[in-house]
Amino acid sequence: MAKSTRKAGAARRFKMYIEGKWVESERGETFDVVSPASGEVIGTFPKGTREDANRAVEVAVAAQETIARMPIAERARLGVRITEEIRRYVKEYAVDCSLEHGKPLRESIIEVEDAIPNILWQVEDLKRWDSPTQEAYSKPDVIYMTLHEPLGTVATITPWNFPWVLPSEFVVQAMLAGNSVIYKPASNTPLSAAHLMECIDRAGVPPGVINMVTGPGGEVGTTLVEHPLVDAIGFTGETTTGIDIAKRAGLKKLTLELGGLGPLIIMDDAKLDAAVEDIAFGCFTNTGHCCVANERIFVHEEIHDRVVKSLVERTKKMKVGFPLDNDTDMGPVNNRPTLEKVEEHVADAVRKGATVVAGGKRVSGMPTDLYYYPTVIDDCAPDMLFNTVETFGPTAPIFEFSKLDEAIEMANAPRYGLSMAIHTANLRVAFEAAKRLKSGQICINEPVYSWDYFNPWGGFRNSGLGRIAGRWTLDAFSELKTVMFNVGRSPWPR
Ligand code: NAD
Repeated sequence: MAKSTRKAGAARRFKMYIEGKWVESERGETFDVVSPASGEVIGTFPKGTREDANRAVEVAVAAQETIARMPIAERARLGVRITEEIRRYVKEYAVDCSLEHGKPLRESIIEVEDAIPNILWQVEDLKRWDSPTQEAYSKPDVIYMTLHEPLGTVATITPWNFPWVLPSEFVVQAMLAGNSVIYKPASNTPLSAAHLMECIDRAGVPPGVINMVTGPGGEVGTTLVEHPLVDAIGFTGETTTGIDIAKRAGLKKLTLELGGLGPLIIMDDAKLDAAVEDIAFGCFTNTGHCCVANERIFVHEEIHDRVVKSLVERTKKMKVGFPLDNDTDMGPVNNRPTLEKVEEHVADAVRKGATVVAGGKRVSGMPTDLYYYPTVIDDCAPDMLFNTVETFGPTAPIFEFSKLDEAIEMANAPRYGLSMAIHTANLRVAFEAAKRLKSGQICINEPVYSWDYFNPWGGFRNSGLGRIAGRWTLDAFSELKTVMFNVGRSPWPR
């Protein structure tokens, strides 16, 4: 792990990465990263400023030609080399990911490994990134060609919930498309970001092409968003932040991957064991910190009691524990505001008539007070916060329904549409739901929490703008330019 120094008993010091050098903030200020799992300071980072962000933009703008003029074969080789560097350190990086995020080590290993195909998929797409060529319709002797042009300099801003997967959807891909990049990671999980930059550095990406500035979103993030020489923003985070970015960004190209309020609809003919497994997976994996968590579970009245009983039994078997212990199924909540939001949503539901049937409280005797039991809440109703505001924690709120129409109406009502799911054995019902649910992704007999490396990913309505994954990320970070070529004796303008 090249540029971080590990001292026994001391938090490691990390730096920002600008123009191929590891640097401090110009003001010399720092911030600590405290592990939600142990309560210890595990890293100290430069607290970047407006000036640091401006400097990163200047060097990125200057370096953009370098990457834009680099042959595709060479850009592809850089992408592959970055993934080889990630592969060398999967275990070490996963340990830091678990300590800064709180997720069990086995989930962190999957996440770090996932960054590899995420990047390689676009490397392959880059090699085959064709665009239309056509003869003119209204003139003789004219050919139209289209070229993929980079956008220029791209700012990528990411959240804390998947510290490897989310940057691995943007940072390297924007470079593959020929852009220079400034990366601003979340301040709760910058160790993973620093490790990704170590891989980028060791892979030999030219200085200035990818830069990282750590620090507050309100200063570093807004500076990048408003900077006149930044051409595009790739942002993943909360819907409210996405709206703020859209207001500040002017005419920059925006890719916004925002919040979800994912509904999982379980019809009376669903396979119950599979449905219950999907509820648990989609509610408690990653401590529920997922844009594609099952935020709301709509269960048909005919099977409601059986589903709840089986889910409660399943949930009570889960071991909440330290993320590095082998038998841990779920670690702590990542941060206090998120835990307080979870508690507020549970209290709101109980006040309005819901019943906590599993969990519903913090786990005592742990190294921090951020550990919370996986929680099942029955008898939820549409007026509860669970149904209107993303909870983003380990909760499974159950809403009972009697007709498909009712479930679809509730699913669509909050105007989020990232991923929605239905469990049913009836093909007609499945396709009716797929047509009527307003969402970027519909999962049939799959959890809301599903995706693959290549299918277009992104939200309807409050869940975002644009599509990423597979060749869609390359498309998102490029423009199409039309070139008209007169190859003969056209009657005009001669
Ligand atoms: P957040 O919006 O608070 O922060 C995300 C990033 O934006 C951080 O790096 C933060 O420092 C920065 N930031 C904050 N304010 C900013 C501003 N005004 N201008 C520019 N940058 C700013 O989000 P979070 O709490 O870190 O992440 C959780 C959210 O992310 C959830 O809503 C989740 O659903 C969403 N998410 C969406 C997807 C998706 O694919 N759609 C994936 C993962 C997470």
